[in-house]
Amino acid sequence: MRILITNDDGIYAPGLWELARALKEMAEVFVVAPDREQSGVGSSLSLHVPVRASPVTPLVKGVTAYSVEGTPGDAVILALKKLLPEKVDMLMAGINSGANLGPDVLISGTVGAALHGYFQGLPSIALSITDLENLRYETPLRLALLIAQEVEAAALPKRLLLNINCPNLPLDGLEGLEVTRLGQRNYQEVVQEGHDGRRKYYWLLRSDPQWVLEEGSDVWAVRNNRISVTPLHSDITSPDLRALLEGLGQGWLQVLRGR
Ligand code: MN
Repeated sequence: MRILITNDDGIYAPGLWELARALKEMAEVFVVAPDREQSGVGSSLSLHVPVRASPVTPLVKGVTAYSVEGTPGDAVILALKKLLPEKVDMLMAGINSGANLGPDVLISGTVGAALHGYFQGLPSIALSITDLENLRYETPLRLALLIAQEVEAAALPKRLLLNINCPNLPLDGLEGLEVTRLGQRNYQEVVQEGHDGRRKYYWLLRSDPQWVLEEGSDVWAVRNNRISVTPLHSDITSPDLRALLEGLGQGWLQVLRGR
């Protein structure tokens, strides 16, 4: 089995190499990741600048590694279309330092990378630990191995996109594992203004998020010390609004036609 590993924390992030080391035990591992931190760039691609890739000395022996001057999405596409000698069987993004919950999946570079793997037809997994310091990798690593084995054994479908968040706890401190839906954890952006001597500049800062704890959501699961596994797809259509607008749409058409 061949596994492509990437992330949005950059090529030298510890979580990336922890994942490479663990998966190396069962698979041929390729690491292709951004050359610097790209958290928050979502699934964006560099379409207006050239993208460069350089081979790097792997931190785990026997792994082929490249750093990419671009986004996580760029790294995935470059890896699959150009850099890797052979076809890979799955993609893992992470292990991210920090949670990716609820609406975060729309701006997360970790999930963005997994989304590009999914678009390319690969079973793709985004892995995060819900903390920023003193990370405990054991649980997400074991889970990553287990899922890779299940993909290899065809116990999971190839059309697979999972967003996994692990509380930063030892295995025996966990209360369980929940298959969840996306919940709500909303940030208030704050714009801080400064002056560099020539011009104004702005920093977009994110204050502490507000948590909505609905049972069965990813937000609820990690708050209750459970691993959250959210199956995703790329359809973000709102069924409620669609039903509401279906009625209104006919009226709009008549207004457009001047009747
Ligand atoms: Mn990140």
